[in-house]
Amino acid sequence: MSAEALVFYSDVDNAQAWREALTAELPDLDVRIAPDIGDPAAVRYALAWAPPAGFFARFPNLQLVVNLGAGVDGLMKRDDLVQVKVARLNDPAMEAMMASYVMFAVTRYARDIPVFERAKRRGEWEYVHPRPLFEIKVGVLGLGELGAASAKALAAMGFSVTGWSRSPKDIPGVTALTGREGLERVLSESEITVCLVPLTPDTHHLLGAAELALMPRGAKLVNVSRGAVVDELALVEALRSGQLAEATLDVFETEPLPKGNPLWTLDNVLITPHVASITVPALAARDVAESVRRVRQGLSPLHEVDPRRGY
Ligand code: NDP
Repeated sequence: MSAEALVFYSDVDNAQAWREALTAELPDLDVRIAPDIGDPAAVRYALAWAPPAGFFARFPNLQLVVNLGAGVDGLMKRDDLVQVKVARLNDPAMEAMMASYVMFAVTRYARDIPVFERAKRRGEWEYVHPRPLFEIKVGVLGLGELGAASAKALAAMGFSVTGWSRSPKDIPGVTALTGREGLERVLSESEITVCLVPLTPDTHHLLGAAELALMPRGAKLVNVSRGAVVDELALVEALRSGQLAEATLDVFETEPLPKGNPLWTLDNVLITPHVASITVPALAARDVAESVRRVRQGLSPLHEVDPRRGY
């Protein structure tokens, strides 16, 4: 009998590093790197990021798809995944990287760094009196693996942190809210709002013109989840009018952000090319292997995605 196979697909990740990490965990697993897929019937598992349309339909015995990342919005839109368990990746390094990005972006605003960056370009010494961190209210939308890690790190640094999620949370140092009322309270009270909710039908354009208008005038936004969680046209308008003073954007409705997009021209926007966090093979492979072991025993994989919720 031929060994069970896992097919790997990604245009951006290091396939060899993943093969080595997976083989170290599961020596009996035949790891195949697409397009070199061998006999498709032997493939039971897939570890993939953004494979082409129809990719999964080629494997008649596929049981598990592990999304090579935390955000599964791209996977949920596909029509070639039928009767297959879907999981996403998570690893402590991914959480730490996201928390470091969020901490950087929030601290940059809290410490008035954009003011000093602009003053430096003008060649001027512009003094702004620093404020203690506990005076600065930060809202974190989404308190999942990455949102909770970021909220905890911000609270530990000394910021006043309020979070928002679908279900109630108990996170030390973080005021946790739910529901539409909770969202409106977080937005209206936060000087800096960090967006870490997944993109689902429920969160598409979660922050539109009405929600951005709830934020205190001159608020700052950090979006590190998915571009379409924020209505980009409304965002540009809010940044032009001064309703929003600043934004740090790692994700966009269209990526790469097209030339000519007005966000490129706004001096109050920091743009990074979807780099806030990545998965690290040596650490994340443990969870993939554990998921494979579980599915072999007829159990659910780790970090299973609920297609009805979309995350
Ligand atoms: P999780 O699935 O672990 O957590 C999602 C959080 O959002 C949960 O707290 C969930 O609530 C909340 N949520 C989801 N839908 C709603 C809703 N309709 N109303 C209120 N709250 C909601 O995701 P992660 O924390 O791991 O990741 C978050 C996102 O970050 C990913 O989906 C991905 O898009 C993005 N990402 C971006 C990266 C980058 O480099 N820029 C890298 C990695 C991820 P509850 O807890 O109640 O379920």
